[in-house]
Amino acid sequence: MAPSIELNSGYEMPQVGFGLWKVDKATCADTVYNAIKAGYRLFDGACDYGNEKECGEGVARAIKESIVKREDLFIVSKLWQTFHDKEKVEPICRRQLADWQVDYFDLFLIHFPVALEYVDPSVRYPPGWFYDGKCEVRWSKTTNQQTWEAMEMLVDGGLTKSIGISNYQAQGIYDLLKYARIRPATLQIELHPYLQQRNLVGLAKEEGIAVTAYSSFGPTGFIELGMDRAKNVAPLMEHDAIISMATKHNKTPAQVLLRWASQQGLAVIPKTSRPSVMTQNLDSTDFILDQQDMDRIAEMDLNLRFNQPTNYFQTSKLS
Ligand code: NAD
Repeated sequence: MAPSIELNSGYEMPQVGFGLWKVDKATCADTVYNAIKAGYRLFDGACDYGNEKECGEGVARAIKESIVKREDLFIVSKLWQTFHDKEKVEPICRRQLADWQVDYFDLFLIHFPVALEYVDPSVRYPPGWFYDGKCEVRWSKTTNQQTWEAMEMLVDGGLTKSIGISNYQAQGIYDLLKYARIRPATLQIELHPYLQQRNLVGLAKEEGIAVTAYSSFGPTGFIELGMDRAKNVAPLMEHDAIISMATKHNKTPAQVLLRWASQQGLAVIPKTSRPSVMTQNLDSTDFILDQQDMDRIAEMDLNLRFNQPTNYFQTSKLS
């Protein structure tokens, strides 16, 4: 069983969870069901991943077979940018809950701190970045404060137990903390040895906000999207330093990368469809990287970010 992190909202969040981005609809229900059987309790979903209905089917099957109860799970979802307008937040959250076949989320996050013009779900769902579904980006005038107030009302209404943020930088967090009636419980950010974000993690820690690291394997998850900047850097799992640490601790390179984050007190949310790899990723918290390992990884920071919106705006070709 993975350790857990106590959130400022008073709830416990498993430290190792299962990510749901790019999990194919056709296999998603089975993947979620298998991940529950493998021992995962936290699932990190989002409207944008386009598979919440199938995630819900996997969860429902596991509950029906009494493998878990709803309250054993920690289900995370995210508000997409086209639903930032205050009056759109609750209806879309209710739709997402219905897709998951649950009546509350454990954690609901603002996916990116930038509002896009509303696209009705009957037109396209999930709506993605582009108003016309092709290339036109249309911003909404809604502010992050207005959206946060609507997020707080989800907690008031019992639709989610905790709320949090994703892809925020320090400035956005300082601003949010000025007006937040309910403080963000977590900050979910891209974080791996090539993008260590030490100052941002330090700020979150000081403010009592738990950090979830995504894309723990760095370029690996972006190579499959055809992103040049991911193809042009050494894969972390094949990096000499990571391989030698894996050998030293009798672990896999993936476990070293996950441990590097969890040892800093961060949560991780890797994904795989292979049950043996699911177990490997879940079992990544039972060893200690020594100071020499941590110092060596600290030297690997390149401030290299893969998941930034402008990468998706430029053209359909990712740079
Ligand atoms: P990932 O953790 O899914 O890893 C990328 C690839 O590594 C996977 O496709 C998988 O095939 C492979 N892999 C996984 N475990 C492995 C192992 N032990 N050995 C070898 N290969 C392995 O990366 P990701 O999808 O970028 O991020 C994980 C999760 O983070 C997502 O599913 C999503 O839930 C979340 N995420 C959130 C945001 C956000 O904007 N908030 C952005 C990206 C990802």
